Amino acid sequence: MSSKSPIGIDLGTTFSVVAYLDGSGRPITIVNGEGDLITPSVVLFDGKSAVVGKEAVKAAVMEPELIADFAKRDMGSMFYSKKVGGQQLPPEVIQSLILEKLKNDAERKLGPIGKVVVTVPAFFNEPRRKATQDAAQLAGLEVLDIINEPTAAAIAFGYQVGFLDAKGEARKKETILVYDLGGGTFDVTLMEIEGSEFTAIATGGDVFLGGIDWDRRLADYIADKFRDKHHGFDPRQDAAGIQRLLKEAEDVKRTLSARDQVAITFEHVGQGIRLPITRTEFEELTADLLERTRFTTRSVLKEAKLQWSDVTRLLLVGGSTRMPMVQTMLEEESGLKVDRSLSPDEAVAHGAALYAGLLLARQDDSPDKPSKPAMSVRNVSSHDLGVLSKDPVTGRPMNSVMIPRNTVLPVTKGKRYRTAKLGQKNIVINVIEGGDSAGRNSTPIGRCTIQDLPDDLPAGTVVEVYFTYGENGRLKVEGRLPDLKRKAVLSIERASGLNDDKLDEWGKRLKAGRGK
Ligand code: ADP
Ligand code: MG
Repeated sequence: MSSKSPIGIDLGTTFSVVAYLDGSGRPITIVNGEGDLITPSVVLFDGKSAVVGKEAVKAAVMEPELIADFAKRDMGSMFYSKKVGGQQLPPEVIQSLILEKLKNDAERKLGPIGKVVVTVPAFFNEPRRKATQDAAQLAGLEVLDIINEPTAAAIAFGYQVGFLDAKGEARKKETILVYDLGGGTFDVTLMEIEGSEFTAIATGGDVFLGGIDWDRRLADYIADKFRDKHHGFDPRQDAAGIQRLLKEAEDVKRTLSARDQVAITFEHVGQGIRLPITRTEFEELTADLLERTRFTTRSVLKEAKLQWSDVTRLLLVGGSTRMPMVQTMLEEESGLKVDRSLSPDEAVAHGAALYAGLLLARQDDSPDKPSKPAMSVRNVSSHDLGVLSKDPVTGRPMNSVMIPRNTVLPVTKGKRYRTAKLGQKNIVINVIEGGDSAGRNSTPIGRCTIQDLPDDLPAGTVVEVYFTYGENGRLKVEGRLPDLKRKAVLSIERASGLNDDKLDEWGKRLKAGRGK
């Protein structure tokens, strides 16, 4: 097996998956050290070392304070939402430990691995994307690129289901709705596939909605019943109780995907409860969560100016789409039949490996290289990019949107500024994503500073700033002084995440921890 096999990594909120392309270009999921195809994205900080996956999950019930899970939800923030083993860790570090475990498992099979593609939810904003790339770097991986999860799923689907012909082209134009309900995030994306072009036309989602919310609802239901039975004794009062409630809830949820009813059993500090629950009851308990996904799905269609009748395929990914309520809702909503031909767990990693193969083939320009994949992928931006300033009349904050969401990538937009006074040395620009017209609820990307402007620059000199979103949703900013025909020195002071120094520092610490 060549160490140059293209590798795709689905770094999921709850489960992660690695796949590679075999000699014939077919994606294969790598079995992890525990013998499973999927690895829980859970880290146990056990004294000096970190344990990732199934073993960490087992320990969660006993030692919840040593466990980091759902770190993906915190990507783009300074710190992981809770202290782990008394330490405050950046989410990038937790994610990098998961990636490192996946890397080690892959290397056991393939030998030293080269370049990888890592997936991100389409709805991830720029800081979360940057954080993902940083995590991969910390894990010692060379990232070819990041790709949106629904795009990866659509690629895998195209290959596996065979609506692509031998040349990798779609026989007819397809408009696919990818509905991805995972453990902690929900994503819905409309993709068009025409010939060999995969184009995302609209995307939306919810970084705070996933299977865990169904678990929590059920855990609360169990806890309420328990409390009623045991005179106000609430198992949610301690962390271990909560962990065990969630574990039981998840088991019950999974069983209810296959059966109409199940008996919940829960014990806590010598007290117990046993109660039957039907699938219908579970669906009633969680109906509003499902409705939120319906709402998002509708609004994505609306933004793409499409009707359900324009959609040719409904693709379900993510473990939570195994809940029958999802399929029922979508089929009722759309009038279409759901396509179940893809493994909801592996599709994203497979698509990422296929994309890695495409990128590597593109890099390798040797003429004797046989069949190059012809496929091309285009994405859209998932958030408005704006500049925050003050309204000159009212003095109130004002968000000037430069690149509206769902713009096809890559895209570059320029904005002109003028220096206000003679000899001005710098200009500061606040860049944000999302938010309303006053910038409320936006995500600060950072402060761009045009620095070291030439001496004695007259007032009113034009300074142009160019914002570029790459195909992968990462932002680059460039400044120019057109009158002087030169570039302006520009730096971005990031509002969140690890800066270069911190990244370096963590890189060294993690390396030392690995004993290398
Ligand atoms: P992510 O991509 O967010 O890591 P996955 O796509 O792996 O997540 O989905 C994980 C979620 O799917 C978990 O919340 C898990 O409980 C749920 N899940 C897995 N299998 C089933 C099932 N049979 N029925 C209901 N939910 C399931
Ligand atoms: Mg996923």
